[in-house]
Amino acid sequence: MYYSNNVHFMSEQLATVRNSAIKDTIGDIPKSGRLVLKNGYVVDPKNRIQDICDIVIEGGEVVNINVDIPVEKGDMVLDCEGLLVVPGLIDMHVHLGDLFEVSTEPIFNAACDGVAIGLSPGAGNTSMSPSLLGAEIDRGLPMNLGLYLGGANVAGTMMSTEDLIRYFKGECDEATVYSKFTRNAVSGTTGNLVMGIKDHMGHFIMSDENIDKLFEVTSQAHMIYMSHTQDPEHTLRMVKLSKGRPLHLGHASAPGCGTHMDGKEAMDIIVDLIKENEHVSGEFVTSMMRPSRGHREGLLIQSQAQKVCYEALEKGIVKILISDGQGDGSMKGFGDTRDDVPAILELAEMGVLSLMDSVATMTANPADQIAKLTANPWWNTKIGNLGVGALANVTIISRENKLPVYTIVNGTITSFEHRIVRRGNGAGGWMTKFGMLRNTGVGDMCLLKGYGK
Ligand SMILES: [Zn+2]
Ligand SMILES: [Zn+2]
Repeated sequence: MYYSNNVHFMSEQLATVRNSAIKDTIGDIPKSGRLVLKNGYVVDPKNRIQDICDIVIEGGEVVNINVDIPVEKGDMVLDCEGLLVVPGLIDMHVHLGDLFEVSTEPIFNAACDGVAIGLSPGAGNTSMSPSLLGAEIDRGLPMNLGLYLGGANVAGTMMSTEDLIRYFKGECDEATVYSKFTRNAVSGTTGNLVMGIKDHMGHFIMSDENIDKLFEVTSQAHMIYMSHTQDPEHTLRMVKLSKGRPLHLGHASAPGCGTHMDGKEAMDIIVDLIKENEHVSGEFVTSMMRPSRGHREGLLIQSQAQKVCYEALEKGIVKILISDGQGDGSMKGFGDTRDDVPAILELAEMGVLSLMDSVATMTANPADQIAKLTANPWWNTKIGNLGVGALANVTIISRENKLPVYTIVNGTITSFEHRIVRRGNGAGGWMTKFGMLRNTGVGDMCLLKGYGK
């Protein structure tokens, strides 16, 4: 059995030497350029698909999704039988590539954990962050990454509210940018390619006036305003200052860890704020949703507070999960990307959410929320779903061992069996509120004199 099956496969597929000449069996097959995901159990919440079917990827996009799609000669086929196939996970709050990072290792680990799209809050509070990330994208990253700017950095410039609105819309003149925002040409040019702004309750104490300015800028320029949520007092203040302008509560399960008051009381306050205010949204940390309640290196949520979070998820008050981490990063958050996939599976196993609703917390739901906050439908048509025309970001999961088997980014396999695949190193693009960039020019500046026109 072993002998006959495998000899046939090997002689068809593998290179060898015959009559003193290389026989390149694979190289000789004309490639179709298609990647076919065969027989996976597909859960695509946006398109309400939950069934065994095939997906065809070509040119970095999904070109077909259906039952029993015939494979053609030259197709690359992934056997997904027994595996859960979901849109590539969107982690809209994961610290990666922040200023203090000494290696890109955490980004690679996030890709192994099934994250296809990550948005990193500007904990370093510098307008340099976008140019630093741009350089890494050009040098080759295995996932799509975007950034928020630190609120203190933005408020600390000489720009008026109107200047900043123009800048983030891409309508500010250079003289204003370089005299009032930054003297650095790389930062000034790339600084507006961000997703939003984040305030940090812990590290920067800002005046009401500056907070109001940030809300005005984010709401007018259609950016995400993310707030570090931990002390309910701070969050109550932010909601008051938001005056109806959009406010997204980052790691909104952190108050449940009881650092500032009883965890359950704190969680009740936060959930009520999200429930009662149409313009306020929130996200919970995957690590804190697991039975282990979190990480000792981050924070552990109290059991009663965790119940409040489960209820908020059940009722659809909070619809988004994030990691807030990459545990290997020097900038650690409250959780770790390694808990993303297990948390999604466990919430379904525990009956807190249906499998489809649980998958939606890191796919369709963040895509919808980002599309709404950035007023850009690109985000929920191209991202967070597996419909025809969507970017081919896919996370393929073994439910038994709660690990991603494959992470596919823009049509390229970036990790397999929770290990990085080197050929996927350059698969990632730069996520902005306007869409995705495949190259930024920053990483190539020292290598090239420029591109010929
Ligand atoms: Zn934070
Ligand atoms: Zn964070």
